[in-house]
Amino acid sequence: MQSPSSKFHVRLTPGRMQNWRRLISWPLLIAFFSLVWITYDGRPLLLFDFEQRRLLVFASHFSWQDLPILTGFLIAAAALLFFMAMGWGRIWCGFACPQSCWTWIFLRIENWLEGSAKQRAQADQYPLTGQFLLRRLTKHLLWIAVALATSLTFTGYFIPIRELLAELVQLQASPAVWIWVGSMALLTYLNAGLVREQICLHACPYSRFQGVMMDADTRKVSYDFVRGEPRGRGSRKKSQKDKGSCVDCDLCVQVCPTGIDIRKGSQAACIDCGACIDACDQVMDKTGQARGLIRFASEAEIQGKFSPFWRPRLVGYGLVCLLALMAAGYGLSSKKELVAEIRRERGQLYRILGNDQLCNFYHIKLEAFHPRLQTAEVRLVDQPDFSLQGPQQLRLDNRGDWVAYRICTDNLQASGGSMLLEFHADSVVLSKKTSFISQNRAY
Ligand code: SF4
Ligand code: SF4
Repeated sequence: MQSPSSKFHVRLTPGRMQNWRRLISWPLLIAFFSLVWITYDGRPLLLFDFEQRRLLVFASHFSWQDLPILTGFLIAAAALLFFMAMGWGRIWCGFACPQSCWTWIFLRIENWLEGSAKQRAQADQYPLTGQFLLRRLTKHLLWIAVALATSLTFTGYFIPIRELLAELVQLQASPAVWIWVGSMALLTYLNAGLVREQICLHACPYSRFQGVMMDADTRKVSYDFVRGEPRGRGSRKKSQKDKGSCVDCDLCVQVCPTGIDIRKGSQAACIDCGACIDACDQVMDKTGQARGLIRFASEAEIQGKFSPFWRPRLVGYGLVCLLALMAAGYGLSSKKELVAEIRRERGQLYRILGNDQLCNFYHIKLEAFHPRLQTAEVRLVDQPDFSLQGPQQLRLDNRGDWVAYRICTDNLQASGGSMLLEFHADSVVLSKKTSFISQNRAY
């Protein structure tokens, strides 16, 4: 029997769960590798360029003021994860987690080049031949190629992918970029190729706390010990009627990517990938027994007790997910394309210039979050006795430099009060209030 710590070779097996895993993981993988290349209206669909302060989600610019929207989506994602854990255990880990997806890719490459788990285990016992060495070398080269492609794609979500590749090919990328790309590739190679399940067992923070989210009604991968025991090898003919359904073939252990025996009961190392379900279903077919000796079932169900799926906590997670999505959706629909900040100059309330002008000093920063907004006009509204002094037109870019302005009046006895500034950019009009302070009145 394999222990989680010893070296073991995972046996690949076809089946319903394998098909589900493909159905879920392939679209995610295709999305990961392709979204980074897609642009809309000249802008990347997804970009988290912190250095240039460009945050693009579905080609729409986000600013720091939109952080609550992104927080809403993050809360919805976390609630969905809790909902899934409460409902079906670690299905995220088994079917969609990047660690699992990449491990299965690396496993398939290994299986293709070095043969089945049995052949690989046999090869481990003898000195390597020249042909096997060549296959192993090719395997590692392919793993490195996948790891590099993964690292470049991932980095492409932070630096536009075309710029990144051009910089790397022309050897103009900064040392930080080289180190980042190299480290990510190395991590992918180690995680999916060599360390694999050890990450799920010892390093994954999600696995640490999701145990508390499950209960006796969680439909996780379970062995039906009531039906399976007493286990025993051999056929299930009349003379074997005293035995349970488990023929003790160990196939469920051989296909397990974390090397555990599900028949020992629910274990923290189980990632609910369902590989043991596929393997056991095949054995049940061959021995003429009903499928489902290992299946997604709750502890209560296995013990023949009533087991409701919809529990208050599960409904609660679902509601939190829905509400967070609705709030984020509302925020998205009312997202601002133009953001302005006005700061009064520190240290002085007002100043008299040239003995005949009473002035207040400000700094204004404008940020636009749509490429059609190129320039903005700044206006002081409904204050005929006051003038706004500073650039009338401002060039807009995402960096939003602070620009100095002053509001002045010839009336040295003018009262202080509220001032309304308007920013006109394309069809967008943004109004912002500030205060004017004088010796007669201060705000
Ligand atoms: S695959 Fe099924 S029959 Fe074989 S050992 Fe596992 S539980 Fe028993
Ligand atoms: S016990 Fe079954 S479901 Fe759990 S990790 Fe192993 S193969 Fe996957």
